[in-house]
Amino acid sequence: MQTIPMMIDGAAVAGESRFGVIDPASGEVFAEAAQAGPADVDRAVAAARAAFPGWAATPDGERRRLLHALGDALEAHMPELMELVTRETGKPLAGLAGIGAGMEVGGAVAWTHATADLDLPVELIQDDATARVEVHRKPLGVVASVTPWNWPLLIAVWHVIPALRAGNTVVLKPSEYAPLAALRFVELASAILPPGVLNAVAGGGEVGAALVAHADVAKIVFTGSTATGRRIMQVAAGRLKRLTLELGGNDAGIVLPDVDVAAVAPQLVAATLHNNGQTCACLKRLYVHESIYDALCAELARLAGGLAVGDGLAPGSELGPLQNHRQLAIVEELADDARQQGARFLCGGRRLDRPGYFYAPTVIADATDAMRVVAEEQFGPLVPVLRYRDVDDAIARANMSDSGLGGSVWSADAARATALAQRLECGTAWVNAHGAVQPDAPFGGVKQSGIGVEFGRHGLAEYTALQTVKVAKA
Ligand code: NAD
Repeated sequence: MQTIPMMIDGAAVAGESRFGVIDPASGEVFAEAAQAGPADVDRAVAAARAAFPGWAATPDGERRRLLHALGDALEAHMPELMELVTRETGKPLAGLAGIGAGMEVGGAVAWTHATADLDLPVELIQDDATARVEVHRKPLGVVASVTPWNWPLLIAVWHVIPALRAGNTVVLKPSEYAPLAALRFVELASAILPPGVLNAVAGGGEVGAALVAHADVAKIVFTGSTATGRRIMQVAAGRLKRLTLELGGNDAGIVLPDVDVAAVAPQLVAATLHNNGQTCACLKRLYVHESIYDALCAELARLAGGLAVGDGLAPGSELGPLQNHRQLAIVEELADDARQQGARFLCGGRRLDRPGYFYAPTVIADATDAMRVVAEEQFGPLVPVLRYRDVDDAIARANMSDSGLGGSVWSADAARATALAQRLECGTAWVNAHGAVQPDAPFGGVKQSGIGVEFGRHGLAEYTALQTVKVAKA
């Protein structure tokens, strides 16, 4: 059985023991990862701490060159990484609307190169006869990165590359549910970067907790559930560790009456159901004007009901299984609650009768704000469709949520939709799109969806501290 090691100080580490990684398409263990103990966490942080001064002092152009080399290495290993991602997450190689393992690995390559090219130039505040005042961006030290299972390679890259670009060193702790592609990424990086610059430890929440609590960690970047994010923030308070938290979302989309139903439906299906809804910025609640409600629901159900659900490695699969048993149980629970409260299931609403964690894509009409599938983050292939009459009311209902990651407005009138979208309480407001992120535009959540942003110059700045340098002249 394939085993992927942890990397500490440039060397492969087998760990105290191993833990199994399940292929969600079969429910069976297919590979193993090294399990870190407390001593491994200490050694990884110590290696990162020791490597920090050298990496921070490495000329900027050299750091950039090494990160581009890492992007090239990811690209050279695309088929292997895609297969790992598909096997550990269930996500199809191609996927619905092209959103699958290929996009995940291709995105990791693209983000690595784009982030390597970012700069945070020195800002000149004053330069006159009395003084020269500059503002510099300095790296923070050791960054602890803790990642979830839904986009395990891409999110690791989103954390690691800007941290390294800014001159920090990193210890990554991938999700115990899908650690393999991220561990392999660190293994590939270890052939390129100086020892200790990027380390990985594997295991469950207890390993993440030991890592984020470590006294020599200066900053924590975490993507995952809001509940874990809160716990991490409490731990960070003890030493005022810097934080970037990318947490859960419950994104609303508002569909105005002027849309072309046939044209917009496939886009809504992709935005809600890609990766089986297991994306932080999936569209999770759909508010549809009453005048087009029945027509759009029927079209969504026709499209969702016709999706090819199967093993992610099989060509043609648009959706695979859910990633884990726990998530499948949550989806079943939320569907039951909606059913009991009188929702109409237009398609799906059940597990598929086969091994693995498969659940049929499901469109839920007559959904209400009180149903758990609307009020909570479903993180599954359930699309609740809610009816509205007055757009101000739809915006108020969209904003009722504690979450504030993304939101969207769909309309033939882009100017009107843009004005409405800006009233949504969220970190990214899309018009006639949802969930599309890019390496040069900041992405993050407001309210309970997080603190700080990733991507672009704004995201890079989060891995730095400002230092003002004032040189008196007279
Ligand atoms: P999770 O919070 O259960 O786990 C995430 C990571 O935290 C795992 O590596 C886990 O081992 C680790 N962990 C658990 N307890 C810890 C602790 N006490 N201290 C430190 N680390 C700990 O989340 P999940 O179930 O893996 O991911 C799903 C959630 O992630 C969803 O809510 C989803 O919306 C969110 N998510 C958000 C974004 C975003 O960018 N906002 C992206 C992807 C996923």
